[in-house]
Amino acid sequence: MPRPIDLFACIIHRTFLYHIYNLFGNQPYIMIETNVILSNFIAGLVGLLAGLLVNYLSDILPVRRRLTAPICLNCGKSQTLRNYLFWPRRCPHCNFRRSARTWVVEMVGVLGGLWLWNSTEAQQRLGLVVGMVVLIYFAVIVVIDYEHRLILHPTSIFGVVLGLGVGITLNGLTLTLIGGAVGYGVMYGLYFLGGVFIKLMARLRGQKIDEVALGFGDVNLTGVLGLMLGWPNVIIALFLSVLSAGVVSGILLFSRVLSRKYRSFMDAMPYGPFLILGAFLMLFLPLFTQTLLQSISPFF
Ligand SMILES: [Zn+2]
Repeated sequence: MPRPIDLFACIIHRTFLYHIYNLFGNQPYIMIETNVILSNFIAGLVGLLAGLLVNYLSDILPVRRRLTAPICLNCGKSQTLRNYLFWPRRCPHCNFRRSARTWVVEMVGVLGGLWLWNSTEAQQRLGLVVGMVVLIYFAVIVVIDYEHRLILHPTSIFGVVLGLGVGITLNGLTLTLIGGAVGYGVMYGLYFLGGVFIKLMARLRGQKIDEVALGFGDVNLTGVLGLMLGWPNVIIALFLSVLSAGVVSGILLFSRVLSRKYRSFMDAMPYGPFLILGAFLMLFLPLFTQTLLQSISPFF
């Protein structure tokens, strides 16, 4: 079956570009190339729209916990859509500019759209539309957890619905439910142990430690990812998350020791991005991930 975006590209192509070909002679290879350029342009545009949506959700959800008109993150006054989405992207009341993240997310959005459109491996299992929805969900979790150390309940509830849908389509009901239960259970165990460990350290040091290693949002998120990935993929994804978090915290620790800025024995690091990374690899790049794992260990 032709993909909807191909049909759309084809209609535009027939309507607007046909006359241009006539100028150059109607050579088929030019037609194919133009079609590729046009479909990639549309894919990039869809990615940009996804980036705008991720920015909006990441701005509004941590402050309001529900969907409202866009607001200024400095003074809280509402913004016009034109100002917020396009230009000048500056608050008319307090002159506050939107953060650099806004631009980074939009750039990543365009690249993500192009990548999803061109990667057969990424599209193979989820398809374009569901793949894009999952990518948007992942991006919102990563941005909010990175900026606020928070995984919000509204995103977790949305995640359960999305995770059930994706999981049942890919793996059937039983493996989906087992995956969700195992993800939630394993992370709940770690959350519990983390709490015990912090109390123990506080007693040994004779002082109160406020930092929380794992938040309950991480437990909810791992349950959602477990639904999405199913059993036993959720375990491999968790392994990848722990591995990547270990590598990054090792690098951070090393750089802090070198720069002598080493203070806390564990800085509060957001774990959401690493959990998402593991799930992303298993869901969108299964072949690449398998090769990667085989190069690490012969067990895989
Ligand atoms: Zn303002």
